[in-house]
Amino acid sequence: MHSSSAHGLLLDVFNLQERDKIVSFLTAEHGKKRGVAQGARTKFSRFAGQLQPLAKVAITWFEKEGRDLVRISDVELVRPASALQSDLEGILLGSYLAGHIMEFAQENEDSATSYRLLDATIEALLGGCDRGLAARYFEVWVLRLNGIFPTPKECPLCGRAIEDQVVFLESEAALVCPSCSEGHRRIDVGPAELEFLWRSARENLEQMSKRPTAPAALAKIEMLCARVRRNFLQSELKSYRVMKETLASI
Ligand SMILES: [Zn+2]
Repeated sequence: MHSSSAHGLLLDVFNLQERDKIVSFLTAEHGKKRGVAQGARTKFSRFAGQLQPLAKVAITWFEKEGRDLVRISDVELVRPASALQSDLEGILLGSYLAGHIMEFAQENEDSATSYRLLDATIEALLGGCDRGLAARYFEVWVLRLNGIFPTPKECPLCGRAIEDQVVFLESEAALVCPSCSEGHRRIDVGPAELEFLWRSARENLEQMSKRPTAPAALAKIEMLCARVRRNFLQSELKSYRVMKETLASI
């Protein structure tokens, strides 16, 4: 049994029987982890108030070779995420961001880029960044980091440089040049969407916020990301379905 400590972002917290909680968290160095916080449901637990989804914490845990679940021994809050957990839309968005990481991040693997992305996105949201912009930026980057939605620079089918025109080819779930998509089912991609994809590759959320993208372009980006993600996962993220269905019903 050995112990490790790191900064972590809490992804998911749920109750286990009467006394304990199961906590999933992401660290830069050790990837995604899942552990038991023993006694976290009891009245005078040392974890009281520390285990909030999307909070940034300093966390210590013990692990045994061959065991999936680690034992969490200490959690100290570094940055609460309560401001994002105070309204329904914020809770759904938070769970959608965490759902991405639960699906895409690997256990026990260097996850520094995913960690930085989630950390920066939460930081921006807590600072008042537009939620739609932050969500689209995050989605694009998760797919990009996983190599499944590269920044459109050249057509993946013919290699031609993409300058100002690109379309989404449904059969490939990829952005290609217009001539490669002739006669196939495709979705038009306008200059505002293309600009978003290029800018997001080199700008952070603060810079993106200074020159906002039109809502219609953000909606198109959301749709394209959902197609790419579904094509890759062969199903939709549950947190995305829940978010869309819940927001449509209120
Ligand atoms: Zn082409």
